[in-house]
Amino acid sequence: MSTKDFVEKDYYKVLGVPKDATDAEIKKAYRKLAREFHPDANKGDDKAEERFKEISEANDILGDSKKRKEYDEARALFGSGGFRAGPGGAGGNFNFDLGDLFGGTQGGGAGGGAGGFGGGGLGDVFGGLFNRGGTGTRVQPRRGQDIESEVTLSFIEAVEGATVPLRMSSQAPCKACSGTGDKNGTPRVCPTCLGTGQVSRGTGGGFSLTDPCVDCKGRGLIAQDPCDVCKGSGRAKSSRTMQVRIPAGVSDNQRIRLRGKGGPGERGGPAGDLYVVVHVDAHPVFGRRDDNLTVTVPVDFTEAALGGEVKVPTLGGPPVTLKLPAGTPNGRTMRARGKGAVRKDGTRGDLLVTVEVTVPKDLSTEAKDALEAYRKATAGHDPRAELFQAAKGA
Ligand SMILES: [Zn+2]
Ligand SMILES: [Zn+2]
Repeated sequence: MSTKDFVEKDYYKVLGVPKDATDAEIKKAYRKLAREFHPDANKGDDKAEERFKEISEANDILGDSKKRKEYDEARALFGSGGFRAGPGGAGGNFNFDLGDLFGGTQGGGAGGGAGGFGGGGLGDVFGGLFNRGGTGTRVQPRRGQDIESEVTLSFIEAVEGATVPLRMSSQAPCKACSGTGDKNGTPRVCPTCLGTGQVSRGTGGGFSLTDPCVDCKGRGLIAQDPCDVCKGSGRAKSSRTMQVRIPAGVSDNQRIRLRGKGGPGERGGPAGDLYVVVHVDAHPVFGRRDDNLTVTVPVDFTEAALGGEVKVPTLGGPPVTLKLPAGTPNGRTMRARGKGAVRKDGTRGDLLVTVEVTVPKDLSTEAKDALEAYRKATAGHDPRAELFQAAKGA
């Protein structure tokens, strides 16, 4: 005797008797039909054989007062149409096992058939519902939401790291109803998903897919008297400002993840993560190249030609002095070690100093005379000789 049969088959109809037929009426109907469709009287007639089996099966149940009572109860519970097994039966449409429901009271026939429905056990499901009884919570812990936020740092904050206030809004359990969605804190179990928050839909191939329940939006609960604040959703927008430590060395448009700083978890679930997209303001003097800082330093022609010591500013520290070798060309880059951006391990990158040879606009008479003297001294030198040579050669 299978569960599916219990739910699907109408044995009264098979025997052609009313639901309130007496035992005698059932016996009489069975005998008449059994004679009519008996295989001996219908040799080779498959339809008759099938019908005879149905009749026998119906009589097995309805002819036994105990089994008939169980059958009536099962159909009263599930036979109303809300609980159909899909075509092909053995389905994942639901995993109830009526055998469990009727437990030991059912005859030996229950065992085999119940297997087709796999898993579950109505006892479990009902047990789950009753246990939940109005506590207004789903058992399953839920991880908090991941939150994304943005912050703009000054150049130096990005290089050295900073603690910045971050205002965030997130979905949190509604305070007014403690997240139940119900004004009085007494939501009822969603009748559609029976509190699981999920509905299975059969695919017809013996598989089933699980979707969040539409009626309760996956919460498993429905407000009887919806909370005014959250309109029954149980969730509310909450704003909070928290101090967030941005590590040293972040660069513009970098997305950093702060584990566990996102939305709060529910029912013991872990908090989500906070992602912060960092924007870094430009600096009027310094630039960034990975761990290194860059700076362009103007030098006089004489400093470049004759060599000398050049003072270079650093970010947030005292200036450093660079030795410029004689004959330094315009655009040469030199390195001041350890004066760059802070790395993850706390060490620093370098400061890359690019030399820019400047030309004086206003010259004193003395300086002009000196330069005229220099021009005379270098009269034999053509600075474009190489250029023309190269242009001809090509
Ligand atoms: Zn539901
Ligand atoms: Zn609420």
